[in-house]
Amino acid sequence: MDEACIFCKILAGEIPATFAYRDERVAAIADVNPQAPTHLLVMPVVHVANMPALADSQPALVSEVFSVASRLGRAHGGDDGFRTVVNTGPGAGQTVEHMHVHVLAGRDLRWPPG
Ligand code: AMP
Ligand code: ZN
Repeated sequence: MDEACIFCKILAGEIPATFAYRDERVAAIADVNPQAPTHLLVMPVVHVANMPALADSQPALVSEVFSVASRLGRAHGGDDGFRTVVNTGPGAGQTVEHMHVHVLAGRDLRWPPG
């Protein structure tokens, strides 16, 4: 756990959140500032700053996180589908340095993103 990390605090039960999924290695919470009717954040329970760091250190966990994101995306997006987004670094809009996959569904999503 990283004491300065808001997602680690959520995973430790120190800050409340709505959990959509949780096991020993992967968790999914509702985004506090949702950008679509469904907006979930799927993350490893272990603190890792971003996706390339996770891919370098624990590649199997990348797969597990994306498996959970896929199940949740299917469940919430249905036939209309869903979007997964992983921001890496400040220029890409990453504001929480604990790797997470955004899962968005429930409205039309344009391309390219902003
Ligand atoms: P990113 O900008 O890609 O790092 O995404 C961080 C996301 O975390 C944003 O969409 C925020 O709305 C969300 N967020 C920040 N704090 C919380 C919180 N306490 N509970 C749930 N989501 C949060
Ligand atoms: Zn963390």
